[in-house]
Amino acid sequence: MRAEEREIRFDHLTSPEVGAALAEGWTTVVFACGATEQHGPHLALSMDASHGTALAEAVARRLGRALVAPTVRVGCSEHHMAFPGTLTLRKETFHALVEDVVASLGRHGFRRIVVLPTHGGNFAPLADGMASFRAAAPEAEVLACTDLGVVMEVWTRVAQEFGGLGAGVGGHADVAEGSILLALHPERVRPHRVEPGRVGPLDADVTARLFAHGMKAVSSNGILGDPTGMNAPLGRRLVDALAQRLVEDLGEA
Ligand SMILES: [Zn+2]
Repeated sequence: MRAEEREIRFDHLTSPEVGAALAEGWTTVVFACGATEQHGPHLALSMDASHGTALAEAVARRLGRALVAPTVRVGCSEHHMAFPGTLTLRKETFHALVEDVVASLGRHGFRRIVVLPTHGGNFAPLADGMASFRAAAPEAEVLACTDLGVVMEVWTRVAQEFGGLGAGVGGHADVAEGSILLALHPERVRPHRVEPGRVGPLDADVTARLFAHGMKAVSSNGILGDPTGMNAPLGRRLVDALAQRLVEDLGEA
């Protein structure tokens, strides 16, 4: 079977199939840490988890001989709790969860474990936890993308190149995330509810207020950026472009 045709997602594989892949040297595994949280009036709560699974698969395909472990679907979303439906983990719970998943993967023989945050609130907790994740799987190389700036840079560049939509990228429920969910799960998008959120750069001041006082302190509708113009072809490009960039960065890690 050619690598690009093989099913690589744990959720779709049996235990003997994972075992066979490991025996054939498929010892890299990728998983995302997403969220279940508000994404404005137009996107379903699964946004970051749905993106995570797609991004993890795109990264794994590029790495080659890599499987995709299940996405962690709840993250550190305290700053979104003013909006109904949002679920959040305490940082200690999140650390323990990721640590135990990494440890499990290491015990099965995975030798390179790649963790991809697809929710802004997970980047800092993941960075803080790297030492304990590495200790949990001492025979594996544990890698994580912990720079939110890379995501914003790729999204802004690609959205600008593809339709001049770079100004709509703000980091949350924006033209980038709206496009990605349209590409992955159009039935989870409410296009008639699209409206601008807080526009302007997501600088250190805004980020500090966001995490200290919650999303409502910086954006009453829960959007950072402007989803106007979102479209599925852009969403597919965004997933591919970010996967490509992350793989390049991993090669240099
Ligand atoms: Zn999101």
